[in-house]
Amino acid sequence: MTELVDTRTPEPKRFIAGATGDWEVIIGLEVHAQVSSDAKLFSGASTEFGCEPNSNVSLVDAAMPGMLPVINEECVSKAVRTGLGLKAEIHKRSVFDRKNYFYPDLPQGYQISQFKDPIVGEGTIYISVGPDKQGNYEDVEIGVERLHLEQDAGKSIHDLHPSMSFVDLNRTGVALMEIVSKPDMRSADEAKAYVTKLRTILRYLGTCDGNMEQGSMRADVNVSVRKPGGEFGTRCEIKNVNSIKAVGQSIDYEARRQIAIIEDGGTIDQETRLFDAAKSETRSMRSKEDAHDYRYFPDPDLLPLEFDQAYIDAIAATIPELPDDKKERLMKDVGLSAYDASILVSEKAIADYFELVAKGRDGKISANWVINNFMGKINEAGLEIENSPISADQLGGIVDLIKSGDISNQIAKELFDIVWSEAGADPAKIVEERGMKQVTDTGAIEAVVDEVMAGNPDQVEKAKQNPKLAGWFVGQVMKQSGGKANPGAVQKIVKAKLGL
Ligand code: ADP
Ligand code: MG
Repeated sequence: MTELVDTRTPEPKRFIAGATGDWEVIIGLEVHAQVSSDAKLFSGASTEFGCEPNSNVSLVDAAMPGMLPVINEECVSKAVRTGLGLKAEIHKRSVFDRKNYFYPDLPQGYQISQFKDPIVGEGTIYISVGPDKQGNYEDVEIGVERLHLEQDAGKSIHDLHPSMSFVDLNRTGVALMEIVSKPDMRSADEAKAYVTKLRTILRYLGTCDGNMEQGSMRADVNVSVRKPGGEFGTRCEIKNVNSIKAVGQSIDYEARRQIAIIEDGGTIDQETRLFDAAKSETRSMRSKEDAHDYRYFPDPDLLPLEFDQAYIDAIAATIPELPDDKKERLMKDVGLSAYDASILVSEKAIADYFELVAKGRDGKISANWVINNFMGKINEAGLEIENSPISADQLGGIVDLIKSGDISNQIAKELFDIVWSEAGADPAKIVEERGMKQVTDTGAIEAVVDEVMAGNPDQVEKAKQNPKLAGWFVGQVMKQSGGKANPGAVQKIVKAKLGL
């Protein structure tokens, strides 16, 4: 256990009101992220999800006598890659330890983990919390204590038979990265933002698919409460929380439970609890064990893990641009607002799509269309970006037509719907073939303006007195032209004709 350091100044807006005054909630997360790898950490068995129970179990995973673990280099390099992505210190020497405990789904009788010497040390994750009532976002820095590699356990299934339990060892030995935060979070929103950001970073790095429904990312949520700015209180650890929503709910429930106990004159017992998503509450599982209960010792079957700077440098050279850097670049180079940029980088799939649309094109128009039209439509249709009926190329084609003035924004929306529903459509061709081009020819526009004005002499007189009414003529002309007239040109001509 490491010494706890408080890096935050108490902030009243994050306090929880109790009967005896304000309380501050302290949160530290241990996130288990499954390493993206076809094989397990110490065996060649498959990690595929959803297979027949006990079909992906090698003799090593089943802990047959005499079997020896062999480290999977893919998992090591992905742990280093993740460490680099978290701007963390990479330890050139780390040690695998046995964490001893008995459980039916742990055939070895111990879990191979890293204790004193993890592969990755301290790092940082930046989160953005908000919006508050004024619509502002606040940036908060959350410390990462360490990242270590360890084996996952199997699964005990108790609800399939009235008198028997089943054990499925498919997950036994799958590689996990345990990413331990410092106790730096002060609200459920911060914890949710932390898990969301961590998942985004892992997906950018390609080191974990972040799929919480399939269990490839789970969080142990440590919660304690204290009077603002006081000593750290006793924590409870809520095990295996498997959605971001549940992270928030479990913290809210747990903080209130602890406050109620303390205000009632009681004390908090350090314990391990479970979150019941159906009831939205936590309940006790077991009293908390200490490190010495596990009798950790270096695994004699495995040498310490050692690598040199060249190994780290080679991995560093392949790290892609990560969300924080991408956001900054989109703001600086493309001129996007912080809000738009953060939406675009929030998921790798969105960022990738946007970059393809914007490549060699107007970034602002591209961003506007990806965020406001494309994402809206994707969400409405309940689709993943990967299955979008409109490719980045096609949307890029629409952006080109807007930028060149070939189509108005209004027509662009119609065109977007056409391209969305007609597979493989070429936007430029559609505009050409269906006569959707914007009319910028002032002569043609003037003719329509004249026609509208001739038909509405009373309106003309009124508008000459009250310039605000000019907009009515613009609307009429746009309507008559089927939205194809260039609105700017229409406005200019209408104003000129009214002598405004
Ligand atoms: P263990 O491995 O026994 O769970 P660690 O020292 O690794 O212990 O801490 C686990 C997590 O608990 C870390 O994320 C840490 O930030 C968090 N934590 C420690 N103390 C507190 C506390 N008083 N309140 C909330 N979280 C805490
Ligand atoms: Mg723990």
